[in-house]
Amino acid sequence: MIRRALLGVALGAWALGCSTPSALAPGLRGSVGVPHSGFLTGGKELPAEGKGYKWKSAADHHWGLPRLVELIEESAAKVSDERPGSKPLHVGELSARGGGALMPKHRSHRTGRDVDLLFYLTTLEGVPAANDGFVKIGPDGLGVSGAGRFVRFDVDRNWILVRSMVASKKAHVQWIFISRVLEALLVERAIALGESPELVQRAQTVMQQPGDSLPHDDHIHLRVACEADEFVHGCEGGGPAWAWLPRPARKVEASPRELLFALLGPSVAGEVAEPIATLEAPE
Ligand SMILES: [Zn+2]
Repeated sequence: MIRRALLGVALGAWALGCSTPSALAPGLRGSVGVPHSGFLTGGKELPAEGKGYKWKSAADHHWGLPRLVELIEESAAKVSDERPGSKPLHVGELSARGGGALMPKHRSHRTGRDVDLLFYLTTLEGVPAANDGFVKIGPDGLGVSGAGRFVRFDVDRNWILVRSMVASKKAHVQWIFISRVLEALLVERAIALGESPELVQRAQTVMQQPGDSLPHDDHIHLRVACEADEFVHGCEGGGPAWAWLPRPARKVEASPRELLFALLGPSVAGEVAEPIATLEAPE
């Protein structure tokens, strides 16, 4: 009976944990829940500026999973290295320090796995131009800046950015939301450059124009997937698990023992682990 009660508390804590961290569930940490319903612990703040990038606005939130923050820094630096003279990548919102809702601006961005990135632009003559806002780009690759000037989607630099992110072995990009026509421009560029078919296919797979929100013709919205061991600590995919992405190290619901370890930590769970391990699945 006691064991069942304990298990009940653990399961209850698990269910509640998706809205707030709990002393009962210290095992929940990092990116917890799905991007539109969850929170973040142990996040890292992207510095206000670094090599090849800067914040779009100090009023935004710039906390994310450490590997997402590092991905932004590394990818922006790569563009800067490969194309000297680039204007900085303008980085929009990531998540709040502890994650949670950023309504009404965003439905997602709650678990440290999302970031908005403004496009690299050039003038009509191909000179790098600062992106002074969320400049909408049409099917012809052109837009009008806040200053009222025509600007061009910088296919070259935007592809270097996307390539760097998709090719990252540690970031595990799940989605790059971008309009269909801009995806086509980037894929065309990748093929023209002779990029590997596998890389092009991955890029094509993760680039999507979302069906249920803005077309993303004025910025990239990037989301990273859960790491294998993050699943155990409460990260929920909230999207397709592409073949090359990490798999859960083990299913949390696989056994009550694993669940207790995840929720209570080994020092507490260890005392009850053996009896619980032999307990049949809860009714
Ligand atoms: Zn976004």
